[in-house]
Amino acid sequence: MTTFTPDARAIWDQVPEAMRTKLLDSGFCSHCLATRHFALDEAEIRGKDLALIGKCGTCGHRVVRLVEI
Ligand SMILES: [Zn+2]
Repeated sequence: MTTFTPDARAIWDQVPEAMRTKLLDSGFCSHCLATRHFALDEAEIRGKDLALIGKCGTCGHRVVRLVEI
């Protein structure tokens, strides 16, 4: 179940598939202290960034990946 704000959804819909995969493979997990793949749960706009929020694929900790837009 993913929860996107409408403006975040509109931007995410324009991101090419290959780029999406790359972004979801490059979240920084503050629990693993490493770059991890994460499962996307939410997206929202934070200032000039798209914030992708999900769970670390290794430990399940919350991961936030900011993308400049
Ligand atoms: Zn982790």
